[in-house]
Amino acid sequence: MDIAQLGEKILNGDRRALARAITLVESSRPDHREDAAALLDHLSASSREAIRIGLSGTPGVGKSTFIESFGMMLTAQGLRVAVLAVDPSSSRSGGSILGDKTRMDRLSRETGAFIRPSPSQTHLGGVARRTREAVAICEAAGFDVVLIETVGVGQSETVVSEMSDLFILLLAPAGGDELQGVKRGIMEMADMILINKADGDLKPAATRTCADYSGALRLLRKRPQDPDGFPKAMMVSALDEAGLDTAWAEMQGLTKWRRAEGHWSARRAAQARYWFEQEVRQALLSRLDDQDARADMDAIAQDVTRGVLSPTAGAKQMLERLEQGQTGSRRAS
Ligand code: GDP
Repeated sequence: MDIAQLGEKILNGDRRALARAITLVESSRPDHREDAAALLDHLSASSREAIRIGLSGTPGVGKSTFIESFGMMLTAQGLRVAVLAVDPSSSRSGGSILGDKTRMDRLSRETGAFIRPSPSQTHLGGVARRTREAVAICEAAGFDVVLIETVGVGQSETVVSEMSDLFILLLAPAGGDELQGVKRGIMEMADMILINKADGDLKPAATRTCADYSGALRLLRKRPQDPDGFPKAMMVSALDEAGLDTAWAEMQGLTKWRRAEGHWSARRAAQARYWFEQEVRQALLSRLDDQDARADMDAIAQDVTRGVLSPTAGAKQMLERLEQGQTGSRRAS
């Protein structure tokens, strides 16, 4: 494959080339990984920058409805929108929460929009890397906004917030007056909380929920990357397409402020560092998945379970083998 040519096509906005490039970064074949690295290198010369918006919410809060309405509003303004997903469920159960093809039907037909479901991978780390690379490709392809969607389970919010410029939590109106069990850590990641379904009978509950979260956000420690009033909670209705323009105006205002104050580039720099460290960790962990290493782990583990070796001594032995590249040479005693 001619990577330079593929890169040029992407820079020129060729959608088939874009889709092909994303398929390439999703592959774990070693030769594909090399091509992907070369492609990303080629594209990194592009200085195009999208607004990357991470969006998280539990199933049913209205993520796909929101992305469709929000995306349609943006494309109507002449903006180009890419939608990517990080779906930690798609690998484990074989059933994806975010990947089903009927979602965002209207938006998927828009010429200014590009929608890609989550790649299926065995590790969230794998999905994270593929998505991060897909974001970079979409950015080079000239998209103005890249939306990265995830479900509120496990580690996926961290993954998404670490590849977004803005992180948005989507919530539904709560029945009672309690906060909806949103973990403090997730609240602390959010730049905005959008209470969706603020329409019809749900409007009063949405108003209460919005007030509750506004209060909760005010209690959080102030972050340097926030201007006055942020992080903020707002009401929207994805179904009625209400409040979306205001939410977008707030996102743009925040973006402008962060750019002017240097927080925008600082966040991207910190993210680059974070992903560098993750890649190193991941690479080290993957050395344990190798067949010889597993056989060694098993053999040493047997000594540990029999009480011949202490867990600490066993671990030391294993690490020495890995460091010396001598895995697979040990015979079970
Ligand atoms: P997701 O699982 O988070 O992607 O949620 P969906 O977008 O599939 O929406 C789940 C349900 O909530 C669907 O029945 C939607 O029609 C409904 N829904 C989504 N947004 C709104 C909204 O703004 N108002 C109301 N009343 N219902 C909504």
